Amino acid sequence: MARVFNFSAGPSMLPESVLREAAEEMLDYRGTGMSVMEMSHRSKAFDTIIKEAEQDLRDIMEIPDNYKVLFLQGGASQQFAAIPMNLMKNGVADYIITGQWAKKAYEEAKKYGKVNAVASSADKTFSYIPDCSDLPIDEDADYVYICHNNTIYGTTYHKLPNTKGKILVADMSSDILSQPVNVSDYGMIYFGVQKNVGPAGVVVAIIREDLIRDDVMPFTPTMLKYKTQADADSLYNTPPCYGIYICGKVFKWVKEMGGLAAMKEHNEKKAAILYNFLDSSKMFKGTVVKEDRSLMNVPFVTGDEELDAKFVKAATEAGFVNLKGHRTVGGMRASIYNAMPIEGVEKLVEFMKDFEEKNS
Ligand code: PMP
Repeated sequence: MARVFNFSAGPSMLPESVLREAAEEMLDYRGTGMSVMEMSHRSKAFDTIIKEAEQDLRDIMEIPDNYKVLFLQGGASQQFAAIPMNLMKNGVADYIITGQWAKKAYEEAKKYGKVNAVASSADKTFSYIPDCSDLPIDEDADYVYICHNNTIYGTTYHKLPNTKGKILVADMSSDILSQPVNVSDYGMIYFGVQKNVGPAGVVVAIIREDLIRDDVMPFTPTMLKYKTQADADSLYNTPPCYGIYICGKVFKWVKEMGGLAAMKEHNEKKAAILYNFLDSSKMFKGTVVKEDRSLMNVPFVTGDEELDAKFVKAATEAGFVNLKGHRTVGGMRASIYNAMPIEGVEKLVEFMKDFEEKNS
């Protein structure tokens, strides 16, 4: 068996121990005589799976009791519409545009109300986080929206925007569970799980209870109404059972690893190895301003497209896969989520040094 070091931006590497455990339980989940894929979402066994998953997430993120945890579907992109439908009361929201995912959320929200782009880093290909200390927040804004970690561009908020008292809504798809989060700073946090948590198909929303209302936009589909999902404990219809089961295993893995403070330390160590090399290399350069660098997604270039392509090809052959950058940035991107071991980054840097020596 040859597992590669998978630097994909998502879906991404999962902890090997989780995959092994799932494999062992594939045909007979704990004496039920069936796979989790085959069991009723109303069964006792699944009830335990989803409740434990929620409790473990609550424990690791220290989610306050006045927040609901919802297991949803439709990808993070579905939330781009669900958020304005559910959270707009005045029909106004402010968006900070730090990349393609924030921009898509903004464009979608425009269908439902007055939506302001209060800051943007589009002028420099989203290579930084704009100054958010004194934004022109709309007095009537129902919320301020951010994409907390920008998967494509490799930037992250090291300081949250000053929302001037408005609710903050954050897409944390690509950095959830990578470090501690003060949930109370947000009205809502949501994430597609396919990077740091589990297989694609599950979206988790953590929402302050008072924001879950019945009087949402009248055309809001039943399935997209947070109240529907909250009242039914995420079992209004058949949820993505198998995905939730794997997420639950990853939550337990994070606990075993020492929780979010330990994950942060582990991620900082990994990121430092790569960034330190990029800062010293004559061939490879990071594309993001230093103070806004992400711990999860590290884009870099050589400045020569042919050399980039040669590097990606050679790296793939050496077992470092999915390093090709997003087409809007070019070059390379190493996504080093929680499940990427330190060894993966160390070996990648060794490989990059060797490539640099041989090609300069
Ligand atoms: N937000 C972020 C930060 C992302 O990286 C992505 C890409 N996975 C999305 C949203 C869109 O996610 P999905 O494909 O689940 O709709």
